Amino acid sequence: MEIDLLDKYQGCLLGVAIGDTLGHPFEGKLRSQIYSYFDDFEEFLQKNKDIFRTYTDDTQLTLHTAEALIKGNGFNLEYFIDEYINWLDDPPIGPGYGCISSIRNLKSGIPWKEAASDSGGNGTTMRIAPIGLFYYKDHKALKTNAIKSSVITHSHPAASAGAVVIANAIAFLLEKDPETGFSIDNFFQVITKSIANSQDEIWEEFIKILYKLKSNLHIPIESGLIKFSQAGVKSPYFIEQYLGRAFVHPYTISTVICAIFIFLKRLSSFKECIFELATAGGDSDTVGAIGGSLAGSYFGLQKIPPDLFKLVKNYKKILKISEELYSCYKKKY
Ligand SMILES: [Mg+2]
Repeated sequence: MEIDLLDKYQGCLLGVAIGDTLGHPFEGKLRSQIYSYFDDFEEFLQKNKDIFRTYTDDTQLTLHTAEALIKGNGFNLEYFIDEYINWLDDPPIGPGYGCISSIRNLKSGIPWKEAASDSGGNGTTMRIAPIGLFYYKDHKALKTNAIKSSVITHSHPAASAGAVVIANAIAFLLEKDPETGFSIDNFFQVITKSIANSQDEIWEEFIKILYKLKSNLHIPIESGLIKFSQAGVKSPYFIEQYLGRAFVHPYTISTVICAIFIFLKRLSSFKECIFELATAGGDSDTVGAIGGSLAGSYFGLQKIPPDLFKLVKNYKKILKISEELYSCYKKKY
C-alpha cells in the first residue's frame, strides 16, 4: 500500500487532540475509579458528550509547535519562543508547572537558558508530534530539533529524552501500514537507539525501562499500568498513596512508558486504542495525547471514526494546520 502521508499527518495531530479531549475529564483519577463510571466507554461517551468539551494544554502547545515549524520552515528558536508565549493568550487549559513557569519567564524577557524549568514533566513530550512529523525522514535533524524544542522550557534530561523517543516513534509509525502491521522488535530498536550512547544516566535508565516494558508486553493492561505508573520516579517524587496502583505519574518516563505500553497492547483499531489510553488513570489527558499521537500516526485520519474527531473542539482548524505542516514538509524535503 502506498502511504498517504497527509492522512497520517492529520491522523497524528487529531490523535493528540482526541486523546487529550477524552482523557481530560479523567485527569487525576485512579484507573479503578474511572472504570467504576461505566461498563462500556463508548456508551458513556455518547451519553456524556458535554463533559468531553475541550482539549487541554497538550493539544494547545502541539498546535503552537506546528505553527512555529510552519512559520520558520523548520525549527527556528525565535518562532518557537513567540508561539509558546502566544499560548499564554489562548489561555492555557490545565497547564503543568514546567511549561507555565518557563513560558511566563520567557514572556518577561528572561533568556531561555535561564527561563527553562528543571521539571522532568510531560510538557515537552506532549507537544512534540509536529517535530516527529516534519523531520520523519531526517533522523539526525529530528533528534537535534526535538532536543532544541524541549530545552526551551525543560532542562531536565528526562523531558528531552521523552521528546526524542516519541518523535522517533511517530517517524517510525508514519511509514507503517496498519493493514500489515510492524515488527515490535524494530519499533523498540528504533526508539532505544534514538537515546543511546548519551552518557546521561537518566537516558540510560530510560532505555532499561523501555527494555523492561518490551519484556512485559504479554501482561494485561491493568497489571502493566500498576507496574509502570511510577516508572523512573525517584524519592521524594513518588505519589505514595498510589504506589502499586494504576495511576500514571506525570513524570516523562512513566507517562511515555505507559502510553507506549497501551498503544502496543491495542493495535486492533484507533478507537479501542484511544479509549484505553484516555482511561489510563493519573495523567490521563497526557497519556491520551502522547499515545494518541502514536495511534494517529499509525492508523491515519481515514481510520479514525468521524464521530470521534468531530467531538474535538476546532477539529477543522487542526486538519488545516496539519495540511499546512505537510505542505511545508513537502517544500523542504
Ligand atoms: Mg493537559
